[in-house]
Amino acid sequence: MAISKTKKIKRKSLLYKSGVEYADYCLNHVEGCSHGCRFPCYAMMMKKRCGVIRNYNDWIQPKIVENALELLNEELPKLKNKIKVVHLCFTTDPFMYRQKEISDLTLKIIERLNTDGIRCTILTKGIYPKQLSDTKKFEENNEYGITMVSLKGKFKKELEPGAAPYIQRIKALKYLHDSGLKTWVSMEPYPTPNLIRQDLSEILEQIKFVDKIVFGKLNYNVKTTQFEDNKNFYQECADTVIDFCKHNGIEYHIKFGTQKKDNFKTKKLFTAKSDQSQASLFDLREAIIGI
Ligand code: SF4
Repeated sequence: MAISKTKKIKRKSLLYKSGVEYADYCLNHVEGCSHGCRFPCYAMMMKKRCGVIRNYNDWIQPKIVENALELLNEELPKLKNKIKVVHLCFTTDPFMYRQKEISDLTLKIIERLNTDGIRCTILTKGIYPKQLSDTKKFEENNEYGITMVSLKGKFKKELEPGAAPYIQRIKALKYLHDSGLKTWVSMEPYPTPNLIRQDLSEILEQIKFVDKIVFGKLNYNVKTTQFEDNKNFYQECADTVIDFCKHNGIEYHIKFGTQKKDNFKTKKLFTAKSDQSQASLFDLREAIIGI
């Protein structure tokens, strides 16, 4: 019998309401994240501030919420009529690279939510398992996203050391797209040229097949604020993304605070057309961070 290496914790609740744009509810079934992003990671900063973890080394040793499915089974009968979309995850990564136990649990959670007719938006810097293309088990209306802010391996090694290589992320996402599923890319937090010199259009070309793109600036990074022209830089990037998306028939949203003037209309990007009258209110967190 295989011995599990991933540490375990128990929680008292799992689903929580959120005002952010991806979904009306969220869940985080893991504490910590072995991707260990150094942008820095907002979730890690918060957990440190709350005393949940002591340092970066604690953070990169993920702990599975071992009673996650139990909690879901308890909470869903009470909440399922209220929930439209659940997002996985805001404070960890659901398909953490080379963490099979975590990926397997994530698959079970998505399947459980889909069984009750609840669709999911998912975001990862890992690799999507091919099983997700099985539409008998998983809703075809789920939306599968990856985070992509560069194509350069050296940048990934420094800033996202434990995450999957960019090309592998794209390949796995393309597989889901080719299987007829909805895909999207979060280009956030996009770095300034003093962190990396790169051509945004080259990255966009690689992800041309997706249905939606979310673009956002890098927050909480001293180097970015030191980049004098960062307001103009991010406006130019946003214009490039908007032009590219319009030209290729891709839906888009530019995160608040990235452009000189925010566009509030595109915040409904992840709300089903029938739900748009009930779209959630602007969330302050969305305006100041990006994870
Ligand atoms: S993948 Fe997300 S949760 Fe994990 S370390 Fe990076 S920013 Fe934090």
